Amino acid sequence: MIDLTLSEVLDRLNNGAVTSVALTQAYLDRIRQADPRVRAFLTLTEELALEQAAAADTRRAAGGSAPLLGVPLALKDVLATRGIQTTAGSRILQGFKPPYNATAVQKLLDAGAVILGKTNTDEFAMGSSTENSGYFTTHNPWDLERVPGGSSGGSAAAVAAGMAAGALGTDTGGSVRQPASLCGVVGLKPGYGRISRYGAFAYASSLDQIGTLSRTARDAALLLNVIAGPDPLDSTSMPIPVPDYTAALDGDVRGLRVGLPREYFTAGIQPEVEAAVRAAVEKLASLGAEVVEISLPHMSYGLPVYYLIATAECSANMARFDGVRYGQREDAGDMWEVYTNTRGHLLGPEVKRRIMLGTYALSAGYYDAYYRKAQEVRTLIREDFDRAFEQVDVIATPATPTTAFKIGEKIGDPLQMYLSDVYTTTVNLAGAAALSLPCGFDGRGLPIGLQLIGPAFEEGRLLRAGDAYQRVTDWHIHRPVVEEPTG
Ligand code: GLN
Repeated sequence: MIDLTLSEVLDRLNNGAVTSVALTQAYLDRIRQADPRVRAFLTLTEELALEQAAAADTRRAAGGSAPLLGVPLALKDVLATRGIQTTAGSRILQGFKPPYNATAVQKLLDAGAVILGKTNTDEFAMGSSTENSGYFTTHNPWDLERVPGGSSGGSAAAVAAGMAAGALGTDTGGSVRQPASLCGVVGLKPGYGRISRYGAFAYASSLDQIGTLSRTARDAALLLNVIAGPDPLDSTSMPIPVPDYTAALDGDVRGLRVGLPREYFTAGIQPEVEAAVRAAVEKLASLGAEVVEISLPHMSYGLPVYYLIATAECSANMARFDGVRYGQREDAGDMWEVYTNTRGHLLGPEVKRRIMLGTYALSAGYYDAYYRKAQEVRTLIREDFDRAFEQVDVIATPATPTTAFKIGEKIGDPLQMYLSDVYTTTVNLAGAAALSLPCGFDGRGLPIGLQLIGPAFEEGRLLRAGDAYQRVTDWHIHRPVVEEPTG
């Protein structure tokens, strides 16, 4: 059962082939078996999950229905869950139980979902490998010595290893798409404003967006149907109608114009990644899509602009974690010592690095040279995409330049780590939507991801193309074997 897609799980629940309690138990068993090695979960909510599953079964037996009734899911630990520990991967929030649910979480609950637990993340979603978690590193189910990507690495690994039917993550610069790609699952980052961010702990508010991790594009559509839409509690959520994302999945990509940006296929890309992505685009062409070479000329500024804007916003957002209002406090002689001890001891090195970088970029005398300049270049990057979308319907790129790297390989070199987001950060800067899909394996058997980018609120177009691709390929069917260590 744990090898099914979310949509297959839903079919079996709806036709009575399985109960939610049995299904939830199967995932919990799988977690007990595989998670000691993968370490995807920070918190398991076993008892609650079984209660929710029983309630879902009762409701269904009484003739009730709901879009995700009885479907077991996992949630990245940066999403507030009422009464359930929510740490954002940080020691500073150890033991913190929010008094409210994030809107996206509440919508899942209202749709009948079962919550299995909270997944590991880089501290406050700052990172690309989960190695910045204040607790432990998650392991890639395809090779336990490698990272699952990040920051939503726990959610991606959980879905890849059959420990949840689907999961939520967040994506500020690639944190849904990059781990999806490294773990061989589907990651959707909707357009900025599509999903309420209320209750998603803020990292960089002009870039953050909640996204989904699942096995198929169809599964992503099912999840997006539930969590999309405006919310009075988030003024950046867009008051525009939400289409039925599953209705558009007709397998037809004839006439779809696919742009290949030449700047995204240059030095630094692992040759097997480039080959797999080009083959995937040819596959779309064989289904009737039209492939056009395009240019996104400001692409090379994406990373520096992202790391200026993201750290600037992070330095402001992190100010609230002062030991007074939330979570842990280290008591001391006076207020300043409380602040410095709490933040000094309980925030990790990457979060501190970013607070310092961001504070510097915003400081008088440097603001014009760094922050303002970055905002100006951000506009140029957005205009690149606007122009491209006059020519093509979707843009195809690799999701990441390489497959999963070794745990420890990049942690000592922040710049190398930042480079793994080279293909994803521009999308957040533009506010656009993007989908990453499994499209092959490298010589070591590690998954490769294709990224399809579309205009902000054209997630449906991406899902339709992704679904069409998955109908004729089987990359998403392969499963990692998380076996007992030998010897
Ligand atoms: N890896 C990027 C960063 O460290 C993106 C993180 C994210 O999307 N949350 O900022």
